[in-house]
Amino acid sequence: MDVETTDFGARALRLDDGLIAPYGDALLQTFVPAQDRQTLAERVTVMPRLQISAADLFDMELIASGALSPLTGFMTGAAYASVLASATLPDGRPWGLPVTLAIPETAGRSIRVGQEVALYYGEDLVAIMRADDIFPWDPEVEARALGGPVDAHSRIRARQARHVAYLLGGPIALLAARGAEFMQRHHLWPLEMRGQFLQRGWRQVAVPHVQSPWRRTHEYLIKCALEYSDALLLHDAVEEGSGRPGVAAELFAAASRMLIEDYLPADRIRSNPIPAGLASHGARAILQHAILSQNYGISLFFVPEEASTAGGQPDARDLLAEARRFGLEIRATFMPHAFHCEPCGGIATAKSCPHDDAQRVTVSDNEIVERLLQGESLPPFVARPEIARALARGVAERLGGAIHAGARHIHPHASEVSRELRQTMAGHKAAALWMTGLSGSGKSTIAHRLERELLLAGHRVFVVDGDTLRNGLNRDLGFSEDDRRENLRRAAEVVKVLVEAGLIIIASFISPFRAERKTVREILGPSFREVYVDASLEACEERDPKGLYKRARAGQIPQFTGISSPYEPPENPDLRLDTTRLSVEQCVQELRNYLSASGTLRGSGGDRPGRPGVAAIAARGGAHVQ
Ligand code: ADP
Repeated sequence: MDVETTDFGARALRLDDGLIAPYGDALLQTFVPAQDRQTLAERVTVMPRLQISAADLFDMELIASGALSPLTGFMTGAAYASVLASATLPDGRPWGLPVTLAIPETAGRSIRVGQEVALYYGEDLVAIMRADDIFPWDPEVEARALGGPVDAHSRIRARQARHVAYLLGGPIALLAARGAEFMQRHHLWPLEMRGQFLQRGWRQVAVPHVQSPWRRTHEYLIKCALEYSDALLLHDAVEEGSGRPGVAAELFAAASRMLIEDYLPADRIRSNPIPAGLASHGARAILQHAILSQNYGISLFFVPEEASTAGGQPDARDLLAEARRFGLEIRATFMPHAFHCEPCGGIATAKSCPHDDAQRVTVSDNEIVERLLQGESLPPFVARPEIARALARGVAERLGGAIHAGARHIHPHASEVSRELRQTMAGHKAAALWMTGLSGSGKSTIAHRLERELLLAGHRVFVVDGDTLRNGLNRDLGFSEDDRRENLRRAAEVVKVLVEAGLIIIASFISPFRAERKTVREILGPSFREVYVDASLEACEERDPKGLYKRARAGQIPQFTGISSPYEPPENPDLRLDTTRLSVEQCVQELRNYLSASGTLRGSGGDRPGRPGVAAIAARGGAHVQ
């Protein structure tokens, strides 16, 4: 193997493994060499620090490991504009999708071009980057170039929600240690994957342009591909923006594994997760998936014909043909649209089925999702019955992220106690008061005072606060945007269980972003009450009960809400408590009034009779509780 070192320590590996060569001939890896780690530790202390998300880290792994060769970093403005305008890199080489790093506005203003930047995932230094270019980002422009509105692109939508204004371009060098736990377990780098192929004597490995295949039509495509190859690599989807498998992606990946284990030669199939957008519809995604697959040593590529048509994009065959001139050698086969045909008694295509259209049944992805959401089962010609059942069950449970390879062995036992019965026995309703506000606004103080008062009045009540969860359940999470989102998602799930158990929960979380609170609301449903604990930044900073503002101002706490990260006030909270005007006692009274008025508290005339409180029983002369 011939190795040449290029810009910013990247290494161009010319492989002689007998498998297909990477796109552009060399696999470009970009890691900080082991011998430089020591000196790096000193250098990073003077570099600006940037927090990255799990999704960014995944992109970095793909770049650094060579999966996105010939890229060795995030795109500069020129490369980005060229890809958007003509699906080519500035040197004319075809390239489908932008690979970019979004940075917060504050960083966009403080980082200087040419400077080295230290990239952190939580507390871990994961990479360094040279800031070759900082350029403005426009979601509308990007969406238009890729085809369709912003809403059609989950990653653009997620960035828009975070008010991303700048992208940072330049070469990266990754520290070899893998950050995100999910990737450690599942994701292979191109050299490792190629090594596995060689070990098994596989020369012709195929990839279908489908992520997490589970339908009967997918199964047909896979079987066709297997007839022509030594083995198959499947790409499971990791949802964009989440960096870990999102609920839907994970459910379908689990269904896909069920199909492989029971209906396909599992010993000839490998799977590897990649970001979801890489195998979506449209010519650009097809080209990108082809390039990535070739870098992994894949020589055959099976594309369902219908994936090649997406509005406003160049023709997939033209793009692939153009890329061939620049070293894209993977052989693409476009598979005709597959359907179920009654007289054929199975899946077929227009090429293999002689019957007319009326006999052919196609069910779209949208219809499938719609049916699952309606609680309807899927017909057996869409999916194997046990797979359809697992999907239906997963969707019905709204998942909570618990579906994994063993999902089909999990059968939650139905409770014999209804929520109504619990509430009748407790004498009050369950509810989740979600206290949001700046650090120091008074969330915890009010929460604990209210908890004590309600408890003494005979309520089943409990405070859940962010710090407690961070010390236990969530101790694996840092403060990157993704980790904060996951922190809140888990918190909401915990609160949901406690509300289900009949408690009044007072949840105290800064929860600065509207989008996150919306997720919490979706998880908790109608029991969710948004309480905005409102105090000006000045007041909070003045109080500074934990000394955090002082540390944040000294630059010791990155992305601190109110200082270096925004707080988005609720637009329409259920209750707003102005803690600069009201005393703690007044705030607690406001909350009690609110809970009474909404019929949550004992004896507050909810929609069912409440049992008398402990105090009332005692006053009546010690009648005992049955
Ligand atoms: P947070 O919940 O945001 O972490 P804390 O409750 O820990 O905030 O801190 C709020 C600080 O503000 C406490 O020191 C508290 O005594 C003080 N404080 C002053 N007025 C109020 C009020 N009306 N409500 C709540 N806290 C108040």
